[in-house]
Amino acid sequence: MHEEVKSAALNPYQMAVQQFEAAAEKLNLSEDMREILRQPKRELAVNFPVRLDSGRIKTFTGYRVQHNVNRGPAKGGIRYSPDVTLDEVKALAMWMTWKCAVVGIPFGGAKGGVICDPKHMSPSELERLTRRYTTEISIVIGPHGDIPAPDVNTNSQVMAWIMDTYSMHEGYSVPAIVTGKPLSIGGSEGRNDATATGVLFVTRQAARRIGMPLKGARVSIQGYGNAGSIAARLFQREGSKIVAVSDTRGGIYNESGLDPASVLRFKQERGSVIGFPGAQSISFQEVLEVPCDILIPAATEGVITASNAPRVQARIIAEAANGPTTPEADAILFSKGALVIPDILANAGGVTVSYFEWVQDLQSFFWGVEEIIQKLEVIMNRAFNAVAEKADQSSCDMRLAANMLAIARVAEATQFRGIYP
Ligand code: NAD
Repeated sequence: MHEEVKSAALNPYQMAVQQFEAAAEKLNLSEDMREILRQPKRELAVNFPVRLDSGRIKTFTGYRVQHNVNRGPAKGGIRYSPDVTLDEVKALAMWMTWKCAVVGIPFGGAKGGVICDPKHMSPSELERLTRRYTTEISIVIGPHGDIPAPDVNTNSQVMAWIMDTYSMHEGYSVPAIVTGKPLSIGGSEGRNDATATGVLFVTRQAARRIGMPLKGARVSIQGYGNAGSIAARLFQREGSKIVAVSDTRGGIYNESGLDPASVLRFKQERGSVIGFPGAQSISFQEVLEVPCDILIPAATEGVITASNAPRVQARIIAEAANGPTTPEADAILFSKGALVIPDILANAGGVTVSYFEWVQDLQSFFWGVEEIIQKLEVIMNRAFNAVAEKADQSSCDMRLAANMLAIARVAEATQFRGIYP
């Protein structure tokens, strides 16, 4: 089962290009425009040494990719994982471009990653790795050019180190260089919960569309990190029942419902959700297939494939993760009548509040949490409705509709700006 997950996740860039081509075709985009948009503007690979606690010096490889900046500065997270590849980072950068366009915020797309295993590194090793990686990519990042944020295995502490390193080089504080920072150094209220909050807002709209109340709905969540664990808490508050969750080691299931806060405490103490009292152990893959109404993949790419899609029981799949569903699986889910809220829409709450954080940093003027949540809800609902309308008009699934909307906006910006020189 695990092999299947890995091989499907191997080439996310091909998957991203395939999704792009489908939308470009439907939009009748010229081949010249397709050539511009199908590849990243810039790919930086860096190999850099880091002193480990043992005294050994290990050389790490990292990337920063900027896909397109015609609608604004590049924006995208930084991922630390042994599975990082250049193709993965390129795919994630492209999805960021479409994501910012679909919610209408003035950013282009970027992504970064370092091949490392943060679970086997000490905090001081991670700090040295982060500071050196920041220095290596500082030739392409900047508060007006490319603004990183957290992603898998990076958090507000890592963002604080990036901000401090960049600021040391400049000679003064540059909070707008990253988003997802701690509040005390220019972070934004609401950023920590933003991705999951956005997932809740669009799922509410989707549930309304199919006439399914969120109260009492059974929810299964793959991945119990920032996006997944907070989504569990927010959906429980909405009256939904969290029946299954998982992390890298596997999953747990209880048809009567799990308490998200207790599961999180258990995971923090034991390092995994596995063994949570009163729950049945299930595999990493089974969490996608348990009886549920709403499925939230919140871990990694390529997990819903042609081979398991027929067994997915959820009526709504809200993609908190980027790229969890392969194009073949998309077709199967669509034909089964499942409503997939595509990643570029479902998880756009994160980058939207990152945009708010960046604006607040540039103005040195900070907003209250109510204002942020309200503004986020307006943006997410507007984007959901625009995508749903497009899907109805074009008789297609929401992914194709979202990609069509986004790609048309980026193509229009590219057309207006023209080709330099
Ligand atoms: P995280 O590191 O906080 O949590 C990731 C979770 O997924 C963990 O529970 C981990 O055990 C599990 N996981 C990771 N890799 C896995 C693998 N190969 N197999 C099985 N489980 C695995 O990360 P996060 O920030 O919650 O991000 C999760 C997903 O959401 C990613 O796809 C990310 O790109 C996407 N996302 C996150 C944000 C954000 O603001 N954090 C925004 C938009 C999208």
